[in-house]
Amino acid sequence: MTVSREQAPSKHRLDVARIRKDFPILSRKVNGVPLVYLDNAATSQKPRSVIQSLVDYYEGYNSNVHRGVHTLSMEATNAMEEARAKVAAFVNAESPDCIIWTRNTTEAINVVAKGWAMQHVKAGDEIVTTGMEHHSNLVPWQQVARERGAKLRFLPVAADGSLDLSEVDSIISARTRLLTVVQMSNSLGTINPVKELAARARAVGATVLVDGAQSVPHMPVDVQDIDCDFLAFSGHKMLGPTGIGALYARHEVLEQMEPMLVGGEMVLEVTYEDATWNDLPMRFEAGTPNIADAIGLGAAIDYLQALGMDQIRGHEIELTRYALDAFKELEEVDVYGPPDPQARGGVVPFHSASVHAHDVGTVLDRRGVAVRTGHHCTMPLMRTLGVAATARASFYIYNTVEEVDVLVDAMKEALRYFSDGAR
Ligand code: PMP
Repeated sequence: MTVSREQAPSKHRLDVARIRKDFPILSRKVNGVPLVYLDNAATSQKPRSVIQSLVDYYEGYNSNVHRGVHTLSMEATNAMEEARAKVAAFVNAESPDCIIWTRNTTEAINVVAKGWAMQHVKAGDEIVTTGMEHHSNLVPWQQVARERGAKLRFLPVAADGSLDLSEVDSIISARTRLLTVVQMSNSLGTINPVKELAARARAVGATVLVDGAQSVPHMPVDVQDIDCDFLAFSGHKMLGPTGIGALYARHEVLEQMEPMLVGGEMVLEVTYEDATWNDLPMRFEAGTPNIADAIGLGAAIDYLQALGMDQIRGHEIELTRYALDAFKELEEVDVYGPPDPQARGGVVPFHSASVHAHDVGTVLDRRGVAVRTGHHCTMPLMRTLGVAATARASFYIYNTVEEVDVLVDAMKEALRYFSDGAR
């Protein structure tokens, strides 16, 4: 395939060649060929500035936070709180106090399930979610529903990978206590109309959680515009380190929540018999936090903001359009998710009946191409799609159309290899 798209940088286009130089890992080889990293929905690579922020912390001012009057402790506290403010501004939270550090999206959702839902969901209530949720935004609600005697209801997935909203008015009803929905599907790429869904949920008095694990890294996300109560996301998918994520929660909802973990740091007054809780957000952050990685996430946000989230989104739409067109050449390959690149993120799942997804992954790896294969932690959705596993290419700021060409050529090779029976 020839590269038809002009790649010259302009103020509306990312300068990908320059960006790539900031990511040391992108210059390595895999199986003797250049790495083509297309597994960004699983985790992103890290720019040098993020890696350096960790080194700077450990070499220059490593110390525990919120506890000491000594210089290092104050420097560490300031850096971590600055990072919190950056995260808050990034998603347009009302205040940094609305940002709770967590390990990842999964933990953020569990903080809500244990700290809010266990108190506020009652027998007979309904929790509405969708048929395309990651296990992290499904299993906690199964548990809440079981323990509280509530019912789980699902907005189904239509054949094109979008949400089927034809029954939305009966599914979101006066019985709905919580709406919890993924903004961008990790298995289909679908971008869901979270703002409209949140408005419907609010109209019936329900609380709203948005799983932003895939959306926050790749598009502008504004919690006040969506008008959600909770937004959960992970640092490692947005150029930051593993082990750090965040829960945004509306201030008045945080005031009604119980902490999931109790102990040091989250208390104000402790006697032998009792304890009172600290102010927000520390009430929800028991024990020593992940200081270094929070600072690293702040550096990642600096990097993303310097590029511009609209530009990032635009770049990924171009790559997705290019990939969807390229895959049309491969008749025996099904591509999942909405056909319109504007309606989806940079996630391209594909499957061929003639090659198992894991074999695709192995052949692609020989060509240096890293994709994810499997059920992508969405087993119920895979059953709906009627496949056990797909291969999934997912893009980010440093990917190029040339890399999409390598992917598609490698897929052609896998199809040739397996249809020839040349195993
Ligand atoms: N939700 C979605 C949509 C995801 O893509 C992921 C990660 N694949 C998660 C939740 C869970 O994220 P983490 O593993 O970082 O907790």
